[in-house]
Amino acid sequence: MSTSTETPVQIWWSNATFFFSIHVAAVLGALYWRPITAVPTPTLVLAFLVWQLADFGITIGYHRLYSHRAFRAKLPVRVVLAALGSAGFQGSIKVRSVCLRHRLHHRFTDDPVHDPYAATKGLFYSHMGWIFFKPKYDRMELVDREDLESDPVVRFQHKHYVPLALFFGFVVPTLLGMLWNDPSGAFVWGGLVSRLAIWHCTFLVNSLAHWDGLQPYSDEDTSRGTFLLALLTGGEGSHNFHHSFPHDWRSGPYFWNWDPSKWIIYALHSLGLVTGLRSVRDKDLKEAVEYMRYKETHGIPPEHDAAPWTGETWGLSQAYDYIEAKPGRCLVVIEDYFFDVTPYLGEHPGGAALLRKYSVRPKQDLIEASWAFDGGLNNHSRSARKRMEDFKIARFQR
Ligand SMILES: [Zn+2]
Ligand SMILES: [Zn+2]
Repeated sequence: MSTSTETPVQIWWSNATFFFSIHVAAVLGALYWRPITAVPTPTLVLAFLVWQLADFGITIGYHRLYSHRAFRAKLPVRVVLAALGSAGFQGSIKVRSVCLRHRLHHRFTDDPVHDPYAATKGLFYSHMGWIFFKPKYDRMELVDREDLESDPVVRFQHKHYVPLALFFGFVVPTLLGMLWNDPSGAFVWGGLVSRLAIWHCTFLVNSLAHWDGLQPYSDEDTSRGTFLLALLTGGEGSHNFHHSFPHDWRSGPYFWNWDPSKWIIYALHSLGLVTGLRSVRDKDLKEAVEYMRYKETHGIPPEHDAAPWTGETWGLSQAYDYIEAKPGRCLVVIEDYFFDVTPYLGEHPGGAALLRKYSVRPKQDLIEASWAFDGGLNNHSRSARKRMEDFKIARFQR
């Protein structure tokens, strides 16, 4: 974790003004077009559906697909998710925006400097306080983004983000309201009020999910889980599970975890529109749960005696021989050991390309992964560190 105390303090006036104005307009509109007395039922149903659909654009699209690469989606699914996500009015998928910011949040969770909405800075700040300050993300450039930039849907959405957001967020609900002669009510409820619902329910994942609830999988950070959160966020209720295993396509691993986003992804998968669902290994899930149960029962973590290394010891020349004998393998150096992380490439939450950057290459300068692994690029969890032990193949004799 960083020891820097630098804090961004510049007010982001344009963001703050827009955010505040929508709140005022929504409250005034809702007072004038009151539900039951002045708003027909179809308009209220529309507002609910717009809220839910935009929410799925954020949870399934922005979050699980684009921020975490938890699955792959065919073009029509990506187009629909990008359109729905635009209606969430939270910025485009790409570049210094929602997904990259969220990747920073996972890499440096709770760090008051590098986590964009660090829960350690208070409930209000993590919920919406951060929106009012011009961000200064020192480590944003270290976050991988090639996958986002190579997706034409992401590029198109970014280029035309403002008209897309206005169209799907305000124009479409208003046009739909014309079907039952209530365009103004549809604008207020399907446009303004549902925008507040989308915003604040999404923001709960940064605030409530790091403030109240259970920690069955890890207590290394402030992430927690509650049923209320799942109900309000399209299923993002098991945030503690999500922080422990962020590459998993589900918010919670069990069938009883309330997670409509998971059910939709599963249905799309059954139709062949979604592929490559990534999940935590049963073994790792069981180990995490047992670790936490032991800690809860005994008040201390289970003892873990690291067995002394009895395997081979290599110099760099032996590492080069290994790579040349097995081309394509991804061998990295972390502290005093070589790790062959090839089997982990598809599982790595930060992506395969990032691991490949640190791969040992014969006749090229060695780029060690120690700094990146030990907090430079990511504060790796206990589970991730444990998983790494599976790939240790030799001690490094420098
Ligand atoms: Zn996440
Ligand atoms: Zn979080």
